[in-house]
Amino acid sequence: MTIRAQRGSVLVSALAAVCVAGCVKQNSVESKAPSAAPSAETSALPDLELIPLAEGVWIHRSYADIQPWGRVSANGLLVIGPKAALLIDTPWNDAQMSELYAEVKRRFDVPITEVIVTHAHDDNLGGLAEAHRLGAHSIAEEKTLEIARDGGKPVPEKGFSSSRTLQSAAGVTAELFFPGPGHARDNIAVYLPDTKILFGGCLIKSADAQNLGNTADGDVSSWSASVDALEARFPEAEIVVPGHGDAGDRALLAHTRYLVSTHRP
Ligand SMILES: [Zn+2]
Repeated sequence: MTIRAQRGSVLVSALAAVCVAGCVKQNSVESKAPSAAPSAETSALPDLELIPLAEGVWIHRSYADIQPWGRVSANGLLVIGPKAALLIDTPWNDAQMSELYAEVKRRFDVPITEVIVTHAHDDNLGGLAEAHRLGAHSIAEEKTLEIARDGGKPVPEKGFSSSRTLQSAAGVTAELFFPGPGHARDNIAVYLPDTKILFGGCLIKSADAQNLGNTADGDVSSWSASVDALEARFPEAEIVVPGHGDAGDRALLAHTRYLVSTHRP
């Protein structure tokens, strides 16, 4: 078994301010990441974690060695229903996707049948080809399909324009929304009204992030307005999950805007 669960309060501190997906072009303003290595007693399970977030909802956190930044963690969500599971973003690669699928089957006895991809970087869709092979269907904003296709990455099957309400096979409603560009020109967020969880993805930074991380494919001048649009769209959100680092509350939205305001290219 290669997945471990942790209590939300003792999360391994994820890398500060690094959203490195597909970011080999990234420039030098990254903060140096503290070690995200799991503690000694859990280090036999190095690449993938399931972190409980709410009833039936988990963060899946995967790790990859991305040079020159070292070990980088990335968050997605896993929603477990009675007959199926919904995934928001895949882990970094096919091997981790396969591992996650097997663990969900083993632990919850349901297949992952749907994947929502929040933008076309490797920490969001690096395991998508494997997810498709395992029978899952996928959806993303049209821009993500186009960017993935142009970049030779696995392409989500179904596109939508701007926003979409998904009644998932996992039995929950997911509201998919493109608030405007920021971290990437295709970054969407996903709101789960049943649990008031907003998955902000890489558009939203964790509380310990000290800079915007990878802006190579982004639009910093639009980023704050996009966070405003996200905040206005989902005023009831209580738990906010960033693309990297620990979950928090709505304060992460203001923190992200603050980081945008201090950004120097
Ligand atoms: Zn990204």
